[in-house]
Formats: sequence, C-alpha cells, structure tokens
Amino acid sequence: MSMGLLIALVHHPVLSRSGDVVTTAITSLDIHDVARSARTYGVERTYMVTPIAQQRALVEHVFSHWLDNPVHADHPRTEALRRGHAVTSVEDVLEDLASVTGAPPYLVATSAKRGEGDMPYAELREKLETRDGHALLLFGTGWGLAHDLVARADAKLAPISGEDDYNHLSVRAAVAVVLDRLRGN
Ligand code: SAM
Repeated sequence: MSMGLLIALVHHPVLSRSGDVVTTAITSLDIHDVARSARTYGVERTYMVTPIAQQRALVEHVFSHWLDNPVHADHPRTEALRRGHAVTSVEDVLEDLASVTGAPPYLVATSAKRGEGDMPYAELREKLETRDGHALLLFGTGWGLAHDLVARADAKLAPISGEDDYNHLSVRAAVAVVLDRLRGN
C-alpha cells in the first residue's frame, strides 16, 4: 500500500514581491527540469497550471516537439515529458484527478516560508508509504503560492533549509530536493 504522487507547478494564483496575487509566465526550463525530476521519483502526472491560453500553447508546443517527433522517441526527456499536462487551474487538476483516480488527492503545499504546523518530510514520507490514494504536491512560482491556495491544502510541508535563513531555491531545485526527501533511496 502506498500513495501515488502528483505535482502541480502553479503559475496562478501566486504572489508578487509586494504580496499581490498575480500570474507568472511559464519558464521553459521548468517544464523540462520539473518533468525530469518527477519521472526520476515516479511522479505519475506533472501539471503545468496557467490560466493563459497562449502559455498553455507554449507548454503543448514543447510537449509536441518531443512527443510527436520520431527522432526524439527514445530520448530520456521524451519519457519525462510524457507525464506532463498543461491545465488552466488547480481546480482543473483536482477534477482531472477525481476522474482518473476516483477520489480527491491529499493536497500538500510547499513554500520557502516557515509556518505554524508545517509538516515534517518524514511525516509525509510515512503517509506516502503507508496509505492508499494520491498526494498532489503544489509548487509555486514568483514569490510563492497565494495564501488562499496554501490555506486550502491538507498540509504544508516544512521549508527546505540549509546553513542559515537563506533558502530561496529555484522551484526546479525545490522540486528535486522535496522529491528526494519523499521518495529518494
Ligand atoms: N519566497 C517564495 C516562497 O515562499 O515560496 C519562493 C518562491 S520560489 C521561486 C517558487 C517555489 O519554489 C515556492 O513556491 C516553493 O514551491 C518552492 N520553493 C522555493 N524555495 C523553497 C524552500 N526553501 N522550501 C520549499 N519550497 C521552496
């Protein structure tokens, strides 16, 4: 018995430096790097979330370049991108998951900011290894996930931290570290 793991890279609703709720642009590097980390750790589906149609088209273009071109059929990137999905909103992710898995996922937010009741990695790892169902990890962009989105999560993971208070990782780096702590050998 173990939980299936899913990731959503959220471009809205996220925070600006001044704390406003904004929409950030998709970064092509994120599409590839998050997909490769996700595939490495057995994440079943990786969702790129943006309400901007042109941005979803950019993601679909990257997918198509690798998935639809026989030249890239056996490229490692192609295998990673195969699990990618471009969607409009976190709601879309939850609806897609409910239709695929039959139940809402255990929703986990991440952030570089420490908060009351942050869940330790060991506790989430233990849940993943001993329960049924699916867990959806939400990663933000910009200055982090909007507060309302973090508030609706079932849990917020403790921030990754290192030597001192500086812990502003790129989302690509944060995804890799979080997944290794949850699924690494
Ligand atoms: N200050 C922002 C925050 O609080 O998340 C950092 C934004 S960072 C560019 C974008 C995303 O990467 C965050 O929303 C989070 O998902 C992830 N992230 C960045 N640093 C992290 C850390 N130290 N611990 C956990 N997640 C982190």
